[in-house]
Amino acid sequence: MNATTPSDATPQFALDEAQRAIAEMARGFADERLAPHALEWDAARHFPLDVIREGAALGMGGIYVREESGGSGLTRLDAALIFEALATGCPAVSAYMSIHNMVAWMVDRFGDDAQRRDVLPALVSMEHLASYCLTEPGAGSDAAALKTKAVRDGDDYVLDGVKQFISGAGATDLYLVMARSGGAGPRGISSFLVPKDAKGLGFGANERKMGWNAQPTRQVVFESCRIPARFRLGAEGEGFRIAMSGLDGGRVNIGACSLGGAQAALEKAQRYMGEREAFGRRLEDFQALQFRLADMATELEAARLFLWSAAASLDRGEADTTRRCAMAKRIATDTGFEVANNALQLFGGYGYLAEYGIEKIVRDLRVHQILEGTNEIMRLIVARGLIGRNA
Ligand SMILES: Cc1cc2nc3c(=O)[nH]c(=O)nc-3n(C[C@H](O)[C@H](O)[C@H](O)COP(=O)(O)OP(=O)(O)OC[C@H]3O[C@@H](n4cnc5c(N)ncnc54)[C@H](O)[C@@H]3O)c2cc1C
Repeated sequence: MNATTPSDATPQFALDEAQRAIAEMARGFADERLAPHALEWDAARHFPLDVIREGAALGMGGIYVREESGGSGLTRLDAALIFEALATGCPAVSAYMSIHNMVAWMVDRFGDDAQRRDVLPALVSMEHLASYCLTEPGAGSDAAALKTKAVRDGDDYVLDGVKQFISGAGATDLYLVMARSGGAGPRGISSFLVPKDAKGLGFGANERKMGWNAQPTRQVVFESCRIPARFRLGAEGEGFRIAMSGLDGGRVNIGACSLGGAQAALEKAQRYMGEREAFGRRLEDFQALQFRLADMATELEAARLFLWSAAASLDRGEADTTRRCAMAKRIATDTGFEVANNALQLFGGYGYLAEYGIEKIVRDLRVHQILEGTNEIMRLIVARGLIGRNA
């Protein structure tokens, strides 16, 4: 093991052989299929659907979908290992794959038999890719204020409204949509599975973004969009609860994506410090820089262990899982960004140039502090538990 390899030395947190094999398999895929193209995809704003779909053969289309439903039946900790490893190749692609997996799990967990039978096989094989549609132009952090309407009309629902910032939108095949079928507040919200060919479903322009350019972000627009009532996922009024329970895992996954991006940046900086010279010495011979590298590795490892413990809490279904996932998401995404930004500093001016691949990681990781709930909202979730009221 070298200084920047994820450690499994603490017996209580040791990865077993199967987990190490899963992480190595995903890292191999990232090294071969993602990393060599990541800069090109970022520059061309290319969403590599073909490469993403190759992940299905490795079980990445339904990582924690149960085996009896056709999925890989792995744990959330396994999933965290996979998303971290994939993100070493491209955080934006890994993060999209996390969203797809979040939706596939939600169908398995909250769908009825017919939905599991009709929808899951194509998601697990990644013939169909999915998007998660919660945010609206007027409802981001306060997601329960969403206004998209779902009006029951005989055997159908008719959807009207606009979803904002939807990852994969326009290129994906299935949209899991949270919409208001009842009164104000979270209990008036239901969730729906909307296929891409539904009449009345439209998309905005691909947003120009700071990072995450290897996946599109668009508005999703519903104009009298009619879908059969059997496309509702879960009971009426359960949609917000369903949306939030998907996000617990989504937050662990996005934290893992930050760790992976930071891990790649750390490895690049470590190599660069052995090559670059200043004042007649290699950068790695300056103790100030050695200490910086040591702090980066230490903080990354601390965040990783914390994230693993939140993933394990999710696996065990513990009562305080939401709080632990919120804590881990904040720590992992803040630490990941800081480590990547420090790696950029160690590259000097070259870190600022696209061809070294560091600035792309920094740009990609920045948004992880914002989405799947901002890091202020993560603090809000933790604070609520501490002061015993709805802050
Ligand atoms: C590239 C990208 C991809 C995304 N993908 C998806 C997707 O696939 N699906 C989806 O549904 N959404 C997606 N989002 C949306 C994302 O989840 C939201 O942007 C995020 O939840 C914040 O909402 P907002 O942008 O409306 O910010 P706002 O809610 O307007 O917040 C603005 C600022 O105020 C702070 N704030 C708000 N309320 C409080 C409070 N009570 N206390 C303290 N601070 C507060 C926030 O933390 C933030 O700093 C994506 C966003 C981006 C940028």
